[in-house]
This record gives sequence, C-alpha cells and structure tokens, in this order.
Amino acid sequence: METDIAIVGAGPIGTLAAIQASRNKAEVIVLEQRATIGVPDHCAGLISKTGLKKIGLDSLPKSIVQSEKIIGAKIYSPDGTNLTVKRNSTQALVVDRTLFDQYLATKAENSGATILRNSKVTNLQYNNNTKKITMKIKNKLQPSSPIKSLTAPIVIISEGRLGRLAKSIGFQPPKKKYRLSGFQYLIENVSDLDTQFVEMYFSNFISSGFFTWIIPISENTAKVGLATRDKDAVFRLNYFLKKYPITKHRFQKAKIIKKYGGEVIVSGLMKKTSTNGVMVAGDAAGQTKATTGGGVITGGLAGIIAGQVASLAIQKNNNSSKFLKKYDTQWKAILRNQLKAMSLFRWLLNRMTDEAFNRAFETAVENDLGKLIEEKGDIDSQAEIILSLLKDPAVIKLAFKLLPTIQF
Ligand SMILES: Cc1cc2nc3c(=O)[nH]c(=O)nc-3n(C[C@H](O)[C@H](O)[C@H](O)COP(=O)(O)OP(=O)(O)OC[C@H]3O[C@@H](n4cnc5c(N)ncnc54)[C@H](O)[C@@H]3O)c2cc1C
Repeated sequence: METDIAIVGAGPIGTLAAIQASRNKAEVIVLEQRATIGVPDHCAGLISKTGLKKIGLDSLPKSIVQSEKIIGAKIYSPDGTNLTVKRNSTQALVVDRTLFDQYLATKAENSGATILRNSKVTNLQYNNNTKKITMKIKNKLQPSSPIKSLTAPIVIISEGRLGRLAKSIGFQPPKKKYRLSGFQYLIENVSDLDTQFVEMYFSNFISSGFFTWIIPISENTAKVGLATRDKDAVFRLNYFLKKYPITKHRFQKAKIIKKYGGEVIVSGLMKKTSTNGVMVAGDAAGQTKATTGGGVITGGLAGIIAGQVASLAIQKNNNSSKFLKKYDTQWKAILRNQLKAMSLFRWLLNRMTDEAFNRAFETAVENDLGKLIEEKGDIDSQAEIILSLLKDPAVIKLAFKLLPTIQF
C-alpha cells in the first residue's frame, strides 16, 4: 500500500499533523497501534485557552471539557506557604484526554485522512533508489490483516515519549532520565476544592524533580497526580493523600474512581528533527514544557508545522532532508527559546532543597512576585516570566543566600 504522507501515532500531535496535511490536499494515512484511540489515557488534560486557539481549537464540544473555570494556580512550598496567581478570566480548560484525542481523530478523518487502528509500525526503512520509506505493520488483533506494509515519500513520527522508531533511524528522543514516572487518580469527595484554581505542591520527598497537582473538575472531584524522579510514584501519591500534613485532611472521604500512569518528559528537546523523508514531532521529539511536562500545545504547534511542510513537500515533489529542514527551522522559531528557558528553570528547580523552596516561596510572597507572574506569565510561553523572575532584585538577593544550599 502507498500514500503521500504516513503518520505514526494517532495521539494529538499525529492527528493535528494529519488535519493540516489533509486540508492541504495530501493523501494521509495515520497508523495507530491501539484499538481505541486515546485509551488508556495518561494525561491530566490541563490545556491553556490561548494554546487551544493557537492550534485551531477555539471551541471544543462540551462533552470533552471537564472544566472551563480555571483562572489561576495556588502553588505551595513544602512548609505550606502559598503563592496564588490568578487572572480575571478563564486561563485553562481541563479536558478528558481520551475524548479529546478521539475528537481530533474524527476531525482528521473528516479532513480526508485515513486512520488505521490496531496498526503498529515495527520497522521503517528509507530506500535510496525510490527515495521512499517503507514501514512494516503488525496488527495484533488481526494477524492475518492484508495490510503488512505501507510506503510513503514522507513519514511523520509522532509515536509519543519512547521514540523507539525515531531512535531506530538515528534520531535522539528524550533519554530515560528525562522521562519521570507520573501517576494520577481521579478522585471524588475531595474537600475544600476551589473550582477556579489548580493546586501545585513542591516537595522533594513527594515529587522530586516535579510537583504534585490537584486539578478540580467539580466542587468535590479532582484529578490528583504527581511525577517524580524516584521510581515509586504510586507510593508517593498515596502518601500525599493519606499522610501529607498540608492536604491529608481533604482526602479522608476520598473515593478513587480512576487510575492512570504515564511518563512526563521534563527535558531532552531533540536538536535535529528531520532527515530524508522523515520528521519527528511531539513527545518523541521532546517538545514538552520542562516546567510542567505539558506537551499538547507545544507538540501540537510543531505537529501542525510538520503537516504543513509535509504537504508542501508532496506538492513540490521534494522530500529531501534539505527541504524538510523547513520543519526544524519553523518550529524552532516559535518554540526553541521558550522550551530552552523552561529547561533552564527546571534545571534550577531540580537543584533546590525543600528548605530552598521554603525560602524562595517566602521571598515570592513578601515581594509580591505573584503580581509579576500575573502580569507576564503565560502557560505555554514562559520565557518572559522566567527571565523577569531571574532578573528581579529580590530573587537575585535570594539566589546569593541560597547558593550554599543548592545541590549541584
Ligand atoms: C501523567 C501525565 C500528565 C500530563 N498532563 C498534561 C497536561 O495536563 N497538559 C498537557 O498539555 N500535557 C500533559 N501531559 C503530556 C501529554 O500527555 C503529551 O505531551 C502528549 O500526549 C503528547 O502527544 P503525542 O501525540 O506526542 O504522544 P501520545 O499522546 O503519547 O501519542 C502517541 C501515539 O502513538 C501511538 N504509537 C506509539 N508507537 C506506535 C507505533 N510503533 N505504531 C503505531 N502507533 C504507535 C500510541 O499508541 C499513541 O496513541 C501529561 C503527561 C502525563 C504522563
């Protein structure tokens, strides 16, 4: 079987690329290993309103949206000091990621793309003579499926965090050490939820190298999860629910109704994301925010560019690495500095002890740094606020004081 553009993975990044390329009249086939798109779900589904607009999803069907009330965040230091940041209007939506992924898949199909479910790409090879790529496909549910391979001049690899195929042809997806174990519960009967605020808790014992989140989706239901550099994410999340002094009283009647695990990518942005006939996008290329692990918008923007460049390559009959480099150039122009600034900030956070976090939060509250974040902060484009914070005289003074406690 042949097509113009083959896309590996029907996650949000693959389907956004497919929508873009199909709208530009290319023939697109998306290969998805799962039988049901978006299942199982791994994600908290917190997505900025401005980001959704940027990826062309200004209005989502009500059935997908679990909350559209989030106006800010309450951020807690290990000793419970709280920094609240808020705006006057909705900043982020909480979506059901399974339904979100399925919505995008339907959109891709409605734009003309074909999605082959149960179709795992096991191998991919560039042929120097035909200048096309042939992929081997395995259908676990239907081993006798007649579709055993697919050939295309352009392949977009959006296979998610492991980046196995990308690695097999020489790309460098995020290393294991940059993929933190994450675990999340959907919980009913959580008390004292403020439906307008997500909560973030910093503690090196509970969620070393990341934070713990509470994302409300109603007055008493929330997604509660964490990621950690340690291996036992489930143990730490249970500890947070049952023993963490600041929050344990809120989970006394908690009823866990869903559990999800996954890996959060906090570094490892791929430098070179294209070669002859191939582009890599999304988690596979490390296009996530190192501060929060969010990758739907940043990866989505890259995926749309990949879809655009792929369809242009088909129109121009040119799938050379030189032509596809347009993809690298374009996504780097909008994302690279942002993602690098977030990586720098993550690097600093990762070296702070709990005592350093406590002192930093004290300084932030005393100097009203929440206001600065409210003025300059942007959920997806954090470079400006990171640089403003690092240049703030109170932060510089604090940095000198904390220097001896920082773990290099
Ligand atoms: C616990 C957790 C919470 C998160 N919370 C948020 C959040 O609140 N907001 C946010 O923006 N991001 C969040 N993220 C990150 C977000 O989930 C990812 O950035 C996003 O899903 C990346 O999309 P993707 O399409 O690159 O990869 P994926 O969503 O992983 O999709 C990849 C697809 O490729 C398929 N696939 C893989 N290999 C093959 C193969 N060989 N052949 C065929 N198909 C294949 C997979 O089955 C999958 O469907 C979170 C992640 C985790 C783990």
